Amino acid sequence: MWPTAELHVHIEGTLDADLIRELADRNGLPVPAGAGRGAPFRDLQDFLDVYYANLDVLRTRRDFQDLGARYLARAAAAGVRHAEIFVDPQSHTERGVPVEDVLLGLSAALADARAAHGMSGGLIVCFLRHLGPDAAMATLEAVLPHRSLLLAVGLDSSEVGFPPSLFRDVFERAAAEGLRRVAHAGEEGGPDYVWEALDILGAERIDHGNRALEDVELVAHLRETRTPLTVCPLSNLALRTAGPDLADHPLAVMLDEGLRASVHSDDPAYFGGYLDDNVRALVAAGTVTEDQVGVLAANAVASSFLPDAGKAALLAEIRAHAERVGAAVPALALDPAAV
Ligand SMILES: [Zn+2]
Repeated sequence: MWPTAELHVHIEGTLDADLIRELADRNGLPVPAGAGRGAPFRDLQDFLDVYYANLDVLRTRRDFQDLGARYLARAAAAGVRHAEIFVDPQSHTERGVPVEDVLLGLSAALADARAAHGMSGGLIVCFLRHLGPDAAMATLEAVLPHRSLLLAVGLDSSEVGFPPSLFRDVFERAAAEGLRRVAHAGEEGGPDYVWEALDILGAERIDHGNRALEDVELVAHLRETRTPLTVCPLSNLALRTAGPDLADHPLAVMLDEGLRASVHSDDPAYFGGYLDDNVRALVAAGTVTEDQVGVLAANAVASSFLPDAGKAALLAEIRAHAERVGAAVPALALDPAAV
């Protein structure tokens, strides 16, 4: 198992049927009708309807700690050594759950994972773009008292009709508070959404970014600036934003173009798999070679918000793994200066 970093997982998307039943039972709630439903979905809305209904069982700080702990244990088994986790506070505060219970529960899970699995990690607060910029700013204000628990801000949910430019002020404010910035773009939206995320929001990573390939100038810019793309192949298949065959996934072109792409799991309880499942499926489909799996792991580590020493330590683990299994050592693991 290659040591790697998870940079694109929505913690709410790790809520699987077993935990839904357990939390429903603990909180005296009915089990949501969609518990256990996974891909295929008719479309994005079909998925979101199931996803939001299931979240109703998450009520207490302990629930969020358990959710985080389940995910992190599974991630450790997938070789994840560092996890930067998305959380959508608005999905919970709208239901009356205090934001501190969400953030403190997940932070406790991250602290436990450091002790239990030797993993590092952090939280990325995402704004639900379909709720608009005012709600995003209110969410930022609500989480700032817990600034020390946060790594970055992000932008997720339905893309089309909610361009990144709408969120200029909230991202400016987050940057002024010293938070790093990422954004979903180019999953459904076109290359213009990726440009806006970079130029207007100051995004340091693009989540998905598949449609960036439609713009030659953008591809050159992403390559020159080593801008990371966090790619989620099984998610793309489940939501029909790529495919239908994994062999046709744009990841292969991204790697050929020299882009800093890495593979992640998005909403693994719904889309058919965790980070390792995504990688296995890509290899089985012939989209990437075994040696490229090491490149993807090194790209993920280099794209993380770990300090340089943390990146160097994980790249050394990747190099050691490559030598142990007789695989090619990824260039980034040979030349940390290129990170
Ligand atoms: Zn996502």
